Amino acid sequence: MGCRPRPAQGNRAGALNSGKDHKPATRLVEAGRRPEWTGPVVNPPVWRASTHLYADSADLARARPNDDGTFYYGRRGAPTQWALADALTALEPGAYGTLLYPSGVSAIAGALLGVLSAGDVLLVTDNAYEPSRSMARNLLAGCGIETRFFDPLDLAGFPDRFCERTRAVLLESPGSLTMEVCDVPALAAMARDRGAVSLLDNTWASPLGFAALAHGCDVTIMSLTKHVGGHSDLMMGSVSAGEGLYTRLRLKAQALGLVVSPDDAALALRGLRTMCVRLDRSTATALEVARWLEQQPQVAQVLCPMLPGAPGHDLWRRDFTGGCGLFSFVLEGRTPAHRARLVDALDLFGIGFSWGGFESLAIPFDPARVRSETAWPPAGWQAGDKLGVRLSIGLEDAGDLIADLAQALEAMDEA
Ligand SMILES: *Cc1c(COP(=O)(O)O)cnc(C)c1O
Repeated sequence: MGCRPRPAQGNRAGALNSGKDHKPATRLVEAGRRPEWTGPVVNPPVWRASTHLYADSADLARARPNDDGTFYYGRRGAPTQWALADALTALEPGAYGTLLYPSGVSAIAGALLGVLSAGDVLLVTDNAYEPSRSMARNLLAGCGIETRFFDPLDLAGFPDRFCERTRAVLLESPGSLTMEVCDVPALAAMARDRGAVSLLDNTWASPLGFAALAHGCDVTIMSLTKHVGGHSDLMMGSVSAGEGLYTRLRLKAQALGLVVSPDDAALALRGLRTMCVRLDRSTATALEVARWLEQQPQVAQVLCPMLPGAPGHDLWRRDFTGGCGLFSFVLEGRTPAHRARLVDALDLFGIGFSWGGFESLAIPFDPARVRSETAWPPAGWQAGDKLGVRLSIGLEDAGDLIADLAQALEAMDEA
């Protein structure tokens, strides 16, 4: 195999078209496309490889197992995976490198295990994605790591949550399902002042909507399954960080033997190129649908940070540069049977987990059950113990989606 990338480039920022001045939409097109990885074609080929062959014994003796972007062995990846990691680094201002994981959940687990040890305490936002919560209670507890949940909207009470063993804080904004936007810069700064690493699950916004490291977070995590993949056909996760933490997390990921398939990396790269247009379109449609839902008598409240007047909108406007198609609403005085009729009557919305694909989805949820450890509902929220529905708006026509929701809201009350 004769393709040897120039050494010491790796999957770090500073690709050929480093594009420092370019806007994210342009960087999405350029990122990771180094000529030594793509050859004369536009995209890096899919390198299916376990064994990497060496020219001779001297070549083998020079091999560097821990260097990024140099051939060593299949578990360290090949140009297909390096190009994806490199592209994600180029999109994240302040990142030194990006690690790829086989799913979003494994990215969260890899990052937390990378920064925490037995005896440490982890603070987790009480609106976090359920698998993150159960990971803390089971996997981390089994490693001797203690988790305490905190109210993401209680800024004043946050310092009291720390003790001398607190080493990390896991944030998620907006929160899964309930969509609270928290003051990430303030929480990350308080964590830093107390010697704790702040990690943000930034799957909702992606770096296009929220520059996590630039806003003070130490580590940013994404489920690439959602917006980056974008077509509901792959699972992957990523973690980006500055140099010190990146190097630490890479050692842990290597110790865990984590590697992603080159086929999935190529699909993720393909998804990445159109992420900006897809997000712009689904954000605009989501806003149109959210505005319409707000006017419906069956709807008590729309939980969509992009919607003026909705909870979290002011912080979203202050900190975010974009949104996405994922938001929730709560029903006014209906029963679970009503909600089941509503969801079942939807024609264009599939019923399923995940989101960020080209197709719209709906899933029922109970807001009061998401927050298990801290006060609910937050001030100004009409969610209470009302029944929720989360929508992931895809790329369909906004008018068609609204018409579908209109007929389903009617069907809901036809017992
Ligand atoms: C889906 C999701 C994850 C997990 O990602 P997978 O790729 O499904 O493992 C993590 N965080 C958030 C906010 C998610 O929505």
